[in-house]
Amino acid sequence: MPVPKRKTSKSRRDKRSANKGMKVKAISACQTCQTPLVPHSACQECGYYKGVKVLRTKADRMQARSKEREAAEVKARAHQAVEESEEESK
Ligand SMILES: [Zn+2]
Repeated sequence: MPVPKRKTSKSRRDKRSANKGMKVKAISACQTCQTPLVPHSACQECGYYKGVKVLRTKADRMQARSKEREAAEVKARAHQAVEESEEESK
C-alpha cells in the first residue's frame, strides 16, 4: 500500500484549505433568458449554452411528464370506451 513519505505540514494543509472558499469573480447573463450566470457554463434555468439547447431542465421534464400523463389518460379513456361498447353488444 502506498504511504506518504512525509507528514503534510500545517502550512501545506492550510494552503490547500484556502482554495475551498473560492468565490465567483465574474457574472455574465444568459443570452437566451438573461439569468445571471457564471461565464462558460450552461444556463440551469433554460438549458441553453451560447444559443444551443444542451440541458434538460426541470421545466422540460415536467412538461414531458404532463404530456405522457395526458396521453395515458386518453389511452385509458379509449380503452374504457371500447370495453363499454363490448358490454353493450353482448
Ligand atoms: Zn437561460
